[in-house]
Amino acid sequence: MNPQTLQKILTAGKIASQVRRETAKKLQQPGFSYLQAMDEAEKRIIQLGGQIAWAQMAVNDVAAHYCPTEDDQSVTEESQLIKVDIGVHLDGYIADNAMTIEVGSSNQYKDHIKAAQNALKAAIKLVRPGTQLWQLGEAQHSEAQALGLKTIRNLSGHTIDQYKVHGGISIPSFNNKDKTELQAGSQIAIEPFVTEGTGLIKERNPATIFMIESQRSTRSLYGQKILHFPEIKNQNGLPFTTRWATRSLGKSIALLGLKQLQQDGIIHAYPPLVEVAKGMVAQFEHSMIVEDKPKVYTRHQDDEW
Ligand code: MN
Ligand code: MN
Repeated sequence: MNPQTLQKILTAGKIASQVRRETAKKLQQPGFSYLQAMDEAEKRIIQLGGQIAWAQMAVNDVAAHYCPTEDDQSVTEESQLIKVDIGVHLDGYIADNAMTIEVGSSNQYKDHIKAAQNALKAAIKLVRPGTQLWQLGEAQHSEAQALGLKTIRNLSGHTIDQYKVHGGISIPSFNNKDKTELQAGSQIAIEPFVTEGTGLIKERNPATIFMIESQRSTRSLYGQKILHFPEIKNQNGLPFTTRWATRSLGKSIALLGLKQLQQDGIIHAYPPLVEVAKGMVAQFEHSMIVEDKPKVYTRHQDDEW
């Protein structure tokens, strides 16, 4: 990896970890607006010199893939289990990281939080060239089990490439017998999700997260407008969220445009992922470069995992 690329990755990681911690701290207070938290997270990424890959959150039995819409009135409530997932990039070199907080001070879900942290830590300890993917999965699952919980089997970590959040290789959070070996110099994200539920997620509409998956053209005028917004066009395959379109176009027109773009196969929708038994879900995630001693480039000085 050339030094400029490495520098971009490390800088993206620094910004992503900072914004993740700041955002989580806000959401830990009862009565804090989801929308405000995500708007401010996006602004902070820019302010700190990064580019927005995404700022997402997920509450309780929702594991991932949620962004507030522009008219979302929700505020944090005592004992909600909130995942903050922040992605930052510099010229497509991505840092992906997440953490979970429980709102307020009742500490009802401290085992969920601890289990996900332990799972991530245990997997990172095994990261080096040659480690087989099932080993990372096994380590995560056994940490969850030690606290009476399970990992979510149909969610996984992943390799990361330039402008590609999922670089093609999935990193399991249980022993799936995959003997693929980690490669020196590759970028990976490890992200155990733990729950007391069934350990599976399903999609639940409506989606608030989209990615452009085809460069083909559309006859939809509203769709064309959406594709021409600089903040959406410049994502180059990274996600965007509903309110980036509704704030410029108005809600009804933007929603129609998004629908037509989906029908044309130009954008793909990523609905919220919900635990099938409504189990509470905690997640922790770091991005790293595989080396004999991995470079965990999203670790913040206050992270204990
Ligand atoms: Mn993530
Ligand atoms: Mn990820």
